Amino acid sequence: MAGADVDVAVLGAGQAGLSGAYYLVKFGVDRSLIVDHYERPGGAWQHRWPTLTLATANRVHDLPGLGIVEALGTDCDALPAASAVPEYFGQYEDKFGIEVQRPVHVRRVRPDPAGFAIDHVRDGRDATVIASTLINATGTWDRPFIPFFAGRNTFRGTQLHTHDYRGPADFAGRRVLVVGAGISAVQLLIEIGREAPGAQTFWCSRREPVFDPGPFSPERGREAVARVERRVRAGLPPTSVVSVTGLPENDSIRAARRDGLLRWRPMFTAIDADGVTWDTGERLDVDVLLWCTGFRSSLDHLGPLHLREAGGGITMTGRLATTVAADHRIQLLGYGPSASTIGANRAGREAARNVAEYLGLT
Ligand SMILES: Cc1cc2nc3c(=O)[nH]c(=O)nc-3n(C[C@H](O)[C@H](O)[C@H](O)COP(=O)(O)OP(=O)(O)OC[C@H]3O[C@@H](n4cnc5c(N)ncnc54)[C@H](O)[C@@H]3O)c2cc1C
Repeated sequence: MAGADVDVAVLGAGQAGLSGAYYLVKFGVDRSLIVDHYERPGGAWQHRWPTLTLATANRVHDLPGLGIVEALGTDCDALPAASAVPEYFGQYEDKFGIEVQRPVHVRRVRPDPAGFAIDHVRDGRDATVIASTLINATGTWDRPFIPFFAGRNTFRGTQLHTHDYRGPADFAGRRVLVVGAGISAVQLLIEIGREAPGAQTFWCSRREPVFDPGPFSPERGREAVARVERRVRAGLPPTSVVSVTGLPENDSIRAARRDGLLRWRPMFTAIDADGVTWDTGERLDVDVLLWCTGFRSSLDHLGPLHLREAGGGITMTGRLATTVAADHRIQLLGYGPSASTIGANRAGREAARNVAEYLGLT
């Protein structure tokens, strides 16, 4: 469109950005710019802990047009996700000629008479590109979340977040308190409990974890996603889909519960130098606090667009809730209902179609 350098800028080239980029071509949008601030393909998957394999991840859904097995072979399940997914995404970019500019860090997106001014850093230098429309797909990995807790800074032991976990070996012989009720907490409790020699694990969270014996039907999955979708349509901050569905009780979780590795207790009320205490007076000395307390959407660079409501959410609209209600030129992928690999795929198609429609190409 007049005055803009490109018709669309895709910010982020993880599952969501790549899906969007693939469908932009299908819908005839070819003046696009795709940027990502990591050095190589793979989105957040390249940073997952080395012991997470494609088999132990919940599931990495195929990107449109090239399946992961087709790309990596039938025995790829045993591969570490942190190397397999980058390999898969790299092949994907090559196969479909998706040119991702990297590393390019988007610092800020500002309103511009021709659309959006995207201030970014490339090769250590500041630059700006003007885009008519925006597909934002910057994920959550760069915004690990730890809830505020009085006394947290007085703790003398080690504190880390899921984001920084590198494997069970670091916890040998240590007393580890895992905080959080999601799937990452459960996976790390099992891994440390089984594989770190001499480690003792403890578990607590604000919300009591709910185990779901299954079977996890597609209908229940859709209902869970629909609940998250209702939140973002109402302008509320999204919750994770797992917080809605409960924890799917697979064989590994069943065995861990049987072996006493998943004994949960309510949230402590204070942290001190050596551990935590409850208001009952009970205390627990630990060496490590491992915060599996989730992530928030990496959207700070969109601050100048003032998209957030007073409650902290962004009101979304459109068929799959990918469109920002206050500005239909902006699509958010990986936000709310599309914060999964399957959701990101579908949302990518919808966002590309909406962009093409706005540009008058459909
Ligand atoms: C521990 C963990 C395990 C998970 N396991 C699963 C699973 O098994 N199955 C599943 O479906 N989902 C899983 N998820 C959710 C998962 O993250 C998403 O499904 C999906 O991979 C996210 O894709 P994305 O493209 O939205 O984000 P990402 O993969 O995070 O991609 C975002 C991209 O944006 C780029 N970026 C960010 N900020 C900027 C910026 N300012 N400038 C330029 N580039 C930027 C990053 O470099 C990155 O490449 C998991 C999440 C976590 C945290």
